[in-house]
Amino acid sequence: MTPDTTSSHRDPSGDEASELEIPELDRLRAMDEADPLAWARERFRLPSGIIYFDGNSLGPVLEHGREHIQRVVEDQWGRDLIASWNRHGWIDLPTRVGEALAPLLGAAPGQVVACDSVSVNLFKLLACGLKLRPGRHTVLCQADHFPTDLYIAQGLTALLGTPYRVRYVDLDRLESFLAEDPEADDVAVVSMGHVDFRSGRLMNMERLTHAAHRAGALALWDLSHSAGAMPVALDASGVDLAVGCGYKFLNGGPGSPAFLYVAERHVAACVNPLPGWLGHREPFAFARDYEPAAGVERFVCGTPPILALASLDAALEVWQEVDLHALRRKSMALGDELIRRVERYGADLGLRLISPRSARERGSQVSLAHQQGYAVMQALIEAGVVGDFRAPDILRFGLTPLYQRFEDVGIAVAELVRILRTETWREPRFARRSKVT
Ligand SMILES: *Cc1c(COP(=O)(O)O)cnc(C)c1O
Repeated sequence: MTPDTTSSHRDPSGDEASELEIPELDRLRAMDEADPLAWARERFRLPSGIIYFDGNSLGPVLEHGREHIQRVVEDQWGRDLIASWNRHGWIDLPTRVGEALAPLLGAAPGQVVACDSVSVNLFKLLACGLKLRPGRHTVLCQADHFPTDLYIAQGLTALLGTPYRVRYVDLDRLESFLAEDPEADDVAVVSMGHVDFRSGRLMNMERLTHAAHRAGALALWDLSHSAGAMPVALDASGVDLAVGCGYKFLNGGPGSPAFLYVAERHVAACVNPLPGWLGHREPFAFARDYEPAAGVERFVCGTPPILALASLDAALEVWQEVDLHALRRKSMALGDELIRRVERYGADLGLRLISPRSARERGSQVSLAHQQGYAVMQALIEAGVVGDFRAPDILRFGLTPLYQRFEDVGIAVAELVRILRTETWREPRFARRSKVT
């Protein structure tokens, strides 16, 4: 390769700064200059010395979010104590955050609430889905769905007992299964991921939702890898139920609550199978019998984690200024650039693209398989480029247009190529497995 410039990116692990050659650096810098979202990077607190490609697993903290959490601790909890439930509106935070999320999801008001984890919300909505389709007993899952989506479906159907069950169908066969399989008429809910967490493949939400409806079933989408990564159109696609994650592309912080969406036409008929007191019509009547709240707030169970919810609340402010179509355009361009560079500068290094090459079929990540994927990613992280690894052999690069630069893509691929060419990944410390990959 014949680089036209070098970057000053340094290997934070080494004693001496290593100059890394970034081919076509001028081109990347011109793309950054022209980036309409460049302003957003300043809003984040990004540690120096690393390039972050893991915002699809844990988004970084916003400056504004960090200050807000401190204020909540000092001025609200610290000073106003119990009065904060009313004075600072803590009690309404799940629905307020839900309303702030709704525009990102293409949802009209009254259908989204922020609460619990994705896993718990899956339990609630799968149970509602089964209730809404009496006489049907099957939860149809995409076969390689995220584990928690599978486990919760397994746990719920086991709890309900025979004849309830989970069936697994490959993404490519979902439509034909729903249209043709004689057992499709037992499917109550189809559970799918909008973006596949391994490959980054983006599914056609509208088309698959209609396929579920034609089979008489409901569509439940997991938006963990699309909310905050691209415009989502829940209402326009006719989606019935959805869940998603607050700490990935939405930057709510570790353990920040998830959200759930129930289409307005279903809310009144959906009974929360975890009917906690804060989803009651009148929690402070302390009545013996459960009566659900009128709206989507019925899906709140117990006391919300206010600090975590306040963090998500504050993190959502940035989106008021973000054009989601510009976000999507930049995400696609970042991915295209990453793929182009891997193919141009690392063609012979044992990497295999497993994400769709076409940006329109790709979510906001690029996944590359490599036989020694785990060790390669550890070496990359040590070199200051943070992505993650998913078994068995996948290197994942999350694309987060709010704070990533095209130059970062250049650095990431150059480091990856260097690590593979020099085989530094062979050093024994890179083979040591941690609990979290
Ligand atoms: C991250 C993620 C989850 C996380 O679930 P939690 O219960 O919040 O830990 C669930 N599903 C998918 C598809 C995810 O990507």
